[in-house]
Amino acid sequence: MKILVTGGLGFIGSNFIRTILNKYQEIQIVNLDYKTYAGNLENLKDIENDSRYQLVLGNICDAHLVNELFKIHKFDQVVHFAAESHVDRSIDNPLSFIDTDVKGTGILLEAAKVHGIQRFVHISTDEVYGSIDFGKSKENDVLKARNPYSASKVGAEKLAYAYFITYGLPVIITRGSNNFGPFQFPEKLIPLFITNLIDGLQVPLYGDGLNKRDWIYVIDHCEAIDLVRQEGKLGEIYNIGGGNERTNYEITHLLIKLCNKDVTYIKPVEDRKGHDRRYAVDCSKINALGWKPRFDFEQAMVETVGWYQNNRRWWEKLKK
Ligand code: NAD
Repeated sequence: MKILVTGGLGFIGSNFIRTILNKYQEIQIVNLDYKTYAGNLENLKDIENDSRYQLVLGNICDAHLVNELFKIHKFDQVVHFAAESHVDRSIDNPLSFIDTDVKGTGILLEAAKVHGIQRFVHISTDEVYGSIDFGKSKENDVLKARNPYSASKVGAEKLAYAYFITYGLPVIITRGSNNFGPFQFPEKLIPLFITNLIDGLQVPLYGDGLNKRDWIYVIDHCEAIDLVRQEGKLGEIYNIGGGNERTNYEITHLLIKLCNKDVTYIKPVEDRKGHDRRYAVDCSKINALGWKPRFDFEQAMVETVGWYQNNRRWWEKLKK
């Protein structure tokens, strides 16, 4: 089984590659990654010499390169993570999100269509639903993305679905909730706050701090994607949530406690433009496939804080 993983030098992609190489002996992986600011060779340092793993540094928007890779490797499956992924950056520079997230996805889908594939797992996000005040988003709900990142992810997944309907490409789409864990670039809330607190710096809390997200430990997310990769039904969409709804205020207080600091380390800052208030996903569909999160939220947070405490070398240069 040969799998093309895109964006495997990033946070979730690198955890996914490590998870499945540890789990299966027979799998071969080609990781196509452009090594943007978010891609980091150190994320997969421990497996860089594994004979089952090959890294190709390149852009998913490079149609020639992508087609050559499909021609040479005759992939059985694609798991497509590569994306520009930070909402704040999308507000400052939306066009790069349209390029990578929409056009790049289109180029991969087209190559998969031309060369043939058994499964194309497209990694999307719960942010495509937009903000919901109550209840939980289901896979068939209307998508009301409200910022350039989530809108570009809507474009990408709609394109993937269109390839399933129009060309019969074996596409499956996942919509994960907010991830946390090791190797997350320290611009995202949890690693930013942990590393600031380790350094004795304040943490910038947006608005009233009451924006709510459903947090999932990255390994739980990777295991769910692995299950969908094998057992998911073609043409279907699967929500993947941790079932841990917390406000940013609650997350901040937990991190302050775990880092032995106090509330004077909180620095309220002006809210993000168009900040979605709440995301929450209904996971009955993926639960019915046989998945539920394995990790306890509080314990996973303790381990995540411990990882950043023990891996200063990894994050220090990224913050500079
Ligand atoms: P990340 O920003 O940490 O990593 C993205 C990776 O993609 C990097 O290695 C980067 O170098 C690579 N990349 C970017 N542009 C590329 C291009 N043009 N060609 C090839 N590679 C390119 O992102 P992440 O947090 O690991 O997210 C991975 C995927 O999961 C994204 O599609 C994201 O939308 C989705 N997702 C993320 C979360 C989350 O909480 N982080 C939640 C749900 C879904």
